[in-house]
Amino acid sequence: MVDIHAFSRLLSTGMNTSPSIFPPDYHSHTWLCKHAYGEPSDYAAAATAAGLPEIACTDHCPTPIGFAPEVRMEPHEFDLYRDWVMKARAEHGIDILFGVEADYHDGCEEYLEPFLKEQPLDIVLGSVHYLAYDPDGQPPVKGLWETDDAEGNWKKYLDRVARMTDTGLYDVAGHLDLPKRFGGRPDPGLIDELMPPVMQRIANAGMAVEINTSGFRHLPGEQYPSLQILNMASELEIPVTFGSDAHTPTNVGQYFEEAVILARRAGYTHYLQFKERQGTPAPLP
Ligand SMILES: [Zn+2]
Ligand SMILES: [Zn+2]
Repeated sequence: MVDIHAFSRLLSTGMNTSPSIFPPDYHSHTWLCKHAYGEPSDYAAAATAAGLPEIACTDHCPTPIGFAPEVRMEPHEFDLYRDWVMKARAEHGIDILFGVEADYHDGCEEYLEPFLKEQPLDIVLGSVHYLAYDPDGQPPVKGLWETDDAEGNWKKYLDRVARMTDTGLYDVAGHLDLPKRFGGRPDPGLIDELMPPVMQRIANAGMAVEINTSGFRHLPGEQYPSLQILNMASELEIPVTFGSDAHTPTNVGQYFEEAVILARRAGYTHYLQFKERQGTPAPLP
């Protein structure tokens, strides 16, 4: 949730305006998720070397129901993950947030709500990675692109994103137009038609939207979400965060110069800084 009063205090006291060349990187993973490299201390070292003021460790949240276990840590590994983050926080000279990237799927609230409450989290990214998941079948190769029907895929995906925002469990919408990684950039007319009600629900939920630079490394060759969607977010005064979605420490802070320029093009002057799941606006570098 955005703490507007804290924002006014910040402006009146002039605090927290010390310039850094980059905003914080609020999206990184570890080898525990079985498809990434490194541990939080490695990401903290990479962030320090890149001149970042702050990072968030947001590894894929475990599930007790066996939802896509091949891309996330086991539930019993979560204590180790938390210990790694706390240790890195104690040993490195930058702020390190304790976070997760939690999948939304039908029924996830049942285990996610109590789990998120009991953990000392700073930030929870909400992501939809699958349109459907069959625990007894093979993991889908293109979990967000089931058929050749682009419009159908986008409708199905955005329906899940909208339902995710309605749970009230998440702080930030991660890589909002991720299906373009698999199906290519969508027709702008389709986005104009489908996106506004979803953006309104994100605004209603008090969530931020992540500018995720991993798209520069993927097929789309641009950040998630597109400038078209960022403009919609800006119009609704939905705050933004930045994330490299680092799956290896060398990804930390990648393409952040481009991302800050895009945020400014969309009309943003601030990003949202998180601590203990409270967001406070901070000036863009
Ligand atoms: Zn991942
Ligand atoms: Zn993700």
